[in-house]
Amino acid sequence: MIDLNFASLNLCEPLLRALDDIGYENPTPIQEEAIPYLLEGRDVLGCAQTGTGKTAAFSLPILHLLAETPRNGPRKIRTLMLCPTRELAAQIHENIELYAAKLDIRSMVMFGGVSQKPQERNLRRGVDILVATPGRLLDLMSQRLVDLSKVEFLVFDEADRMLDMGFIRDIQKILAHVP
Ligand code: AMP
Repeated sequence: MIDLNFASLNLCEPLLRALDDIGYENPTPIQEEAIPYLLEGRDVLGCAQTGTGKTAAFSLPILHLLAETPRNGPRKIRTLMLCPTRELAAQIHENIELYAAKLDIRSMVMFGGVSQKPQERNLRRGVDILVATPGRLLDLMSQRLVDLSKVEFLVFDEADRMLDMGFIRDIQKILAHVP
Protein backbone atom coordinates (compact mmCIF):
# COMPACT_ATOMS: atom_id res chain seq x y z
CA MET A 1 0.00 0.00 0.00
CA ILE A 2 1.21 3.50 -0.81
CA ASP A 3 2.17 5.43 2.29
CA LEU A 4 0.13 8.61 2.14
CA ASN A 5 0.43 11.38 4.64
CA PHE A 6 -2.46 13.66 5.46
CA ALA A 7 -1.17 16.58 3.37
CA SER A 8 -1.43 14.54 0.18
CA LEU A 9 -5.13 13.98 0.93
CA ASN A 10 -5.54 17.74 0.33
CA LEU A 11 -6.91 18.56 3.75
CA CYS A 12 -6.71 22.26 4.63
CA GLU A 13 -3.81 23.73 6.55
CA PRO A 14 -5.60 24.30 9.92
CA LEU A 15 -6.65 20.64 9.96
CA LEU A 16 -3.13 19.48 9.13
CA ARG A 17 -1.74 21.61 11.94
CA ALA A 18 -4.27 20.18 14.39
CA LEU A 19 -3.40 16.62 13.32
CA ASP A 20 0.26 17.42 13.73
CA ASP A 21 -0.39 18.66 17.28
CA ILE A 22 -2.35 15.49 18.10
CA GLY A 23 0.43 13.36 16.68
CA TYR A 24 -1.34 11.64 13.79
CA GLU A 25 1.26 11.08 11.08
CA ASN A 26 -0.38 8.93 8.44
CA PRO A 27 -3.98 8.13 7.62
CA THR A 28 -5.23 4.69 8.58
CA PRO A 29 -6.55 2.45 5.76
CA ILE A 30 -10.21 3.46 6.21
CA GLN A 31 -9.18 7.13 6.24
CA GLU A 32 -7.08 6.70 3.12
CA GLU A 33 -10.02 5.01 1.37
CA ALA A 34 -12.87 7.23 2.51
CA ILE A 35 -11.47 10.76 2.72
CA PRO A 36 -10.97 11.37 -1.04
CA TYR A 37 -14.57 10.34 -1.83
CA LEU A 38 -16.01 12.44 0.98
CA LEU A 39 -13.99 15.46 -0.16
CA GLU A 40 -15.67 15.04 -3.56
CA GLY A 41 -19.02 15.27 -1.81
CA ARG A 42 -19.88 11.63 -2.47
CA ASP A 43 -21.87 9.38 -0.14
CA VAL A 44 -19.74 6.75 1.60
CA LEU A 45 -20.66 3.60 3.45
CA GLY A 46 -17.65 2.56 5.51
CA CYS A 47 -17.07 -0.70 7.32
CA ALA A 48 -14.13 -1.29 9.63
CA GLN A 49 -13.51 -2.69 13.10
CA THR A 50 -13.52 -0.38 16.11
CA GLY A 51 -10.26 1.39 16.76
CA THR A 52 -9.35 1.72 13.09
CA GLY A 53 -9.92 5.46 12.84
CA LYS A 54 -13.47 5.70 11.47
CA THR A 55 -14.26 8.85 13.44
CA ALA A 56 -11.52 10.83 11.75
CA ALA A 57 -12.39 9.20 8.41
CA PHE A 58 -15.76 10.97 8.36
CA SER A 59 -14.97 13.99 10.56
CA LEU A 60 -11.87 15.32 8.80
CA PRO A 61 -13.38 15.69 5.31
CA ILE A 62 -16.58 17.19 6.74
CA LEU A 63 -14.55 19.74 8.74
CA HIS A 64 -12.57 20.53 5.60
CA LEU A 65 -15.73 21.09 3.55
CA LEU A 66 -17.39 23.17 6.27
CA ALA A 67 -14.28 25.35 6.56
CA GLU A 68 -14.13 25.76 2.78
CA THR A 69 -17.59 27.32 2.59
CA PRO A 70 -17.82 29.49 5.69
CA ARG A 71 -21.26 30.43 6.95
CA ASN A 72 -22.69 33.86 6.23
CA GLY A 73 -24.90 34.87 9.08
CA PRO A 74 -25.60 33.12 12.36
CA ARG A 75 -24.34 29.62 13.06
CA LYS A 76 -26.72 26.90 11.90
CA ILE A 77 -26.44 23.14 12.29
CA ARG A 78 -24.73 22.14 9.04
CA THR A 79 -23.72 18.64 10.11
CA LEU A 80 -25.68 16.06 12.04
CA MET A 81 -23.93 12.97 13.37
CA LEU A 82 -26.20 10.31 14.84
CA CYS A 83 -24.90 7.45 16.94
CA PRO A 84 -26.42 4.84 19.25
CA THR A 85 -24.97 5.58 22.70
CA ARG A 86 -23.99 8.52 24.85
CA GLU A 87 -20.47 7.15 25.27
CA LEU A 88 -19.96 7.06 21.53
CA ALA A 89 -21.51 10.53 21.10
CA ALA A 90 -19.17 11.96 23.73
CA GLN A 91 -16.18 10.28 22.11
CA ILE A 92 -16.98 11.58 18.63
CA HIS A 93 -17.50 15.08 19.98
CA GLU A 94 -14.20 14.95 21.87
CA ASN A 95 -12.39 13.97 18.69
CA ILE A 96 -14.05 16.71 16.65
CA GLU A 97 -13.02 19.30 19.21
CA LEU A 98 -9.42 18.22 18.76
CA TYR A 99 -9.58 18.16 14.96
CA ALA A 100 -11.36 21.53 14.78
CA ALA A 101 -9.05 23.22 17.28
CA LYS A 102 -7.73 25.64 14.65
CA LEU A 103 -10.99 26.22 12.80
CA ASP A 104 -13.91 28.53 13.51
CA ILE A 105 -16.27 25.57 13.83
CA ARG A 106 -18.34 24.83 16.88
CA SER A 107 -19.71 21.42 17.80
CA MET A 108 -21.86 20.09 20.60
CA VAL A 109 -22.99 16.75 21.94
CA MET A 110 -26.55 15.85 22.90
CA PHE A 111 -27.73 12.71 24.69
CA GLY A 112 -30.36 11.63 27.17
CA GLY A 113 -30.13 10.76 30.84
CA VAL A 114 -28.81 14.20 31.79
CA SER A 115 -30.42 17.63 32.17
CA GLN A 116 -31.34 19.19 28.87
CA LYS A 117 -30.64 22.75 30.08
CA PRO A 118 -26.94 22.92 29.15
CA GLN A 119 -27.80 21.37 25.78
CA GLU A 120 -30.41 24.09 25.23
CA ARG A 121 -27.86 26.77 26.09
CA ASN A 122 -25.37 25.33 23.63
CA LEU A 123 -28.00 25.23 20.90
CA ARG A 124 -28.93 28.85 21.52
CA ARG A 125 -25.30 29.91 21.18
CA GLY A 126 -25.24 28.25 17.75
CA VAL A 127 -23.38 25.18 16.55
CA ASP A 128 -22.12 23.96 13.20
CA ILE A 129 -21.90 20.28 14.13
CA LEU A 130 -24.37 18.40 16.29
CA VAL A 131 -23.44 14.94 17.58
CA ALA A 132 -26.52 13.27 19.04
CA THR A 133 -28.28 10.11 20.06
CA PRO A 134 -31.71 9.83 18.41
CA GLY A 135 -33.95 9.87 21.51
CA ARG A 136 -32.82 13.14 23.09
CA LEU A 137 -32.56 14.79 19.68
CA LEU A 138 -36.21 13.96 18.92
CA ASP A 139 -37.15 15.21 22.35
CA LEU A 140 -35.55 18.60 21.77
CA MET A 141 -36.90 18.72 18.21
CA SER A 142 -40.42 18.23 19.51
CA GLN A 143 -39.86 21.25 21.78
CA ARG A 144 -38.79 23.20 18.68
CA LEU A 145 -35.32 23.76 20.08
CA VAL A 146 -33.42 22.22 17.17
CA ASP A 147 -33.46 23.42 13.57
CA LEU A 148 -32.19 20.84 11.09
CA SER A 149 -33.28 22.73 7.98
CA LYS A 150 -29.70 23.74 7.08
CA VAL A 151 -28.06 20.33 7.44
CA GLU A 152 -25.60 19.58 4.63
CA PHE A 153 -23.79 16.52 6.00
CA LEU A 154 -25.34 13.55 7.73
CA VAL A 155 -23.45 10.75 9.47
CA PHE A 156 -24.79 7.52 10.92
CA ASP A 157 -22.04 6.17 13.14
CA GLU A 158 -22.42 2.49 14.01
CA ALA A 159 -25.53 2.41 11.83
CA ASP A 160 -25.84 -1.36 12.24
CA ARG A 161 -25.95 -1.01 16.01
CA MET A 162 -28.54 1.77 15.81
CA LEU A 163 -30.76 -0.57 13.80
CA ASP A 164 -30.13 -3.43 16.25
CA MET A 165 -31.16 -1.12 19.07
CA GLY A 166 -34.47 -0.32 17.35
CA PHE A 167 -33.77 3.29 16.43
CA ILE A 168 -35.21 3.00 12.92
CA ARG A 169 -38.47 4.85 13.68
CA ASP A 170 -36.71 7.65 15.55
CA ILE A 171 -34.24 8.01 12.71
CA GLN A 172 -37.03 8.20 10.14
CA LYS A 173 -38.72 10.94 12.15
CA ILE A 174 -35.46 12.88 12.38
CA LEU A 175 -34.75 12.48 8.67
CA ALA A 176 -38.12 14.00 7.81
CA HIS A 177 -36.67 17.31 9.11
CA VAL A 178 -33.37 17.15 7.23
CA PRO A 179 -33.25 18.61 3.70
P1 AMP B 1 -11.68 5.32 16.20
O1 AMP B 1 -11.68 4.03 15.45
O2 AMP B 1 -12.21 6.45 15.36
O3 AMP B 1 -12.37 5.22 17.53
O4 AMP B 1 -10.16 5.69 16.51
C1 AMP B 1 -9.36 4.87 17.32
C2 AMP B 1 -8.14 5.61 17.87
O5 AMP B 1 -7.19 5.86 16.84
C3 AMP B 1 -8.47 6.95 18.49
O6 AMP B 1 -7.79 7.06 19.70
C4 AMP B 1 -7.92 7.97 17.49
O7 AMP B 1 -7.49 9.14 18.13
C5 AMP B 1 -6.78 7.21 16.86
N1 AMP B 1 -6.49 7.59 15.46
C6 AMP B 1 -7.39 7.79 14.47
N2 AMP B 1 -6.78 8.07 13.32
C7 AMP B 1 -5.44 8.04 13.56
C8 AMP B 1 -4.28 8.25 12.74
N3 AMP B 1 -4.36 8.53 11.46
N4 AMP B 1 -3.07 8.13 13.33
C9 AMP B 1 -2.96 7.83 14.65
N5 AMP B 1 -4.02 7.62 15.46
C10 AMP B 1 -5.25 7.72 14.93
